[in-house]
Amino acid sequence: MMGKVYLVGAGPGDPELLTLKAARLLAGADIVMHDALVSDAVLAMISPAAEIINVGKRAGYKLLTQDEINSLLVSCARAHGTVVRLKGGDPTVFGRAGEEIEALRAAGVEYEIVPGISAALGAAAAAGISLTDRRVASQILLTTFSRGIDGGALDWGCVTSTTTLVLYMPGADYAEVSERLLAGGLPGDLPCVIVSHATGSEQQVRWSNVARLASEERLPAPALLIVGRVASRDVVELSATFWDTKRRDSALGQASVI
Ligand code: SAH
Repeated sequence: MMGKVYLVGAGPGDPELLTLKAARLLAGADIVMHDALVSDAVLAMISPAAEIINVGKRAGYKLLTQDEINSLLVSCARAHGTVVRLKGGDPTVFGRAGEEIEALRAAGVEYEIVPGISAALGAAAAAGISLTDRRVASQILLTTFSRGIDGGALDWGCVTSTTTLVLYMPGADYAEVSERLLAGGLPGDLPCVIVSHATGSEQQVRWSNVARLASEERLPAPALLIVGRVASRDVVELSATFWDTKRRDSALGQASVI
């Protein structure tokens, strides 16, 4: 028997942000391999009959190496029907899905990707901002400084004044992040917002800017940074004023018709 592996996005934390498909697969899985980032509320949706393996990392201590996870996935598919590989957010965004897909393909294991809401989208929702607010942004760059071999190599050439930059895994040293953003040519007064535990019960949102970031108190992981003109309370207030004005106008309009 050869099972099928589902690479499933668990979303940013709130279980209501899981897709219906993810919920159905969790309820019917034979075995679930999950990362540390998956929230307890989502884990609670796994079938009581399923075997659950935590393959995540915690506090820098690796429970399993990526190669071990790849081999485990293949051997699970050989022994079980429905194998769910559950990853925080979306499995294809900084989720190492690439290596796992390659291992599954090489072993001839059938697989399917079930998308999830990535942390960038959860964080934007938490902050109440639009990542592509058309008045100030035209593109989104999902990136990180914490990359393997070429860690920190970021092509600043593609970052413009209308780029919204979403920095995953910003790490604990905000001063260093601030320095690297400044070195990349971003202005010190460019707004940014730090979002910790987006969509979860411990969610925190801190408004700042690229220069001030250096002295901000660190928020608990997982956290990410949204940098750009959309990451400003002013834009939120601006849009609120915009809508208020419109509402007032239409109310006035109605009044004059009466
Ligand atoms: N595949 C995931 C990202 C994994 S990388 C996704 O699509 O979201 C892990 C990083 O994601 C964390 O270091 C943090 O920067 C970010 N992250 C994940 N969940 C988060 C959350 N609920 N709130 C804020 N950031 C989060």
